[in-house]
Amino acid sequence: MKWLTPGGLVAACAVGAGVTWRLGWPGLALLAAFFLTGSILTQLAERRGPSRNARQVLANGGIALVAALLGSWAGAAGAIAAAAADTWATEVGAFSPLPPRLITSGRRVTRGTSGGITALGTLGGVAGAALIAGLTAALSPRGLTPRFPILATAGVAGMLADSLLGATLQAKYECPACDARFESGNTVCHEPVRLARGWRWLDNDGVNLAATLVGAAAAVLGAHVAPP
Ligand SMILES: [Zn+2]
Repeated sequence: MKWLTPGGLVAACAVGAGVTWRLGWPGLALLAAFFLTGSILTQLAERRGPSRNARQVLANGGIALVAALLGSWAGAAGAIAAAAADTWATEVGAFSPLPPRLITSGRRVTRGTSGGITALGTLGGVAGAALIAGLTAALSPRGLTPRFPILATAGVAGMLADSLLGATLQAKYECPACDARFESGNTVCHEPVRLARGWRWLDNDGVNLAATLVGAAAAVLGAHVAPP
């Protein structure tokens, strides 16, 4: 069981240290809850993908780090809630008896396709966001974080942004010689793959970064509209 590459470990320690420095142990507890539950769910879903590298860690934790460095409890908690919602949705969705459907068109897609959602996965995502929102309510200093429903909603908004971007603007590639579809531009099928749709520079990591930014922004905005 190897969750992180050496670079991923360095990045995770940097995120953990920065968040703990500004937000204290409660901030680290949120990160730990996200990381541990996400890793355990990945184990349970038996998706032995490659260990996470620094880029993937920063895509999930970079916005939380920046928000924490800015002293924003709401932003950091919103970003972590979005990351947790997205991870839980993916891993719980792996147990769905029904195949995923694209969030935009409802077309059936193969498992693991970005932008594909299942009812079970969506419920899992809501649970992941609620877990982080509940921990934030329980552990964070009073008056500094948005209320539970706002934070949970911010996490779910980030998860939906992830699926929407994954279904629309994220780069998707195809083999020129067959119908196979890929999400990495470095793939060689019968021939090197070519861009079929989306923005070349927007890969899965970029979508994760954008989704956590949406979660952070929604939490900050929500805390303004309904002060804690
Ligand atoms: Zn091919």
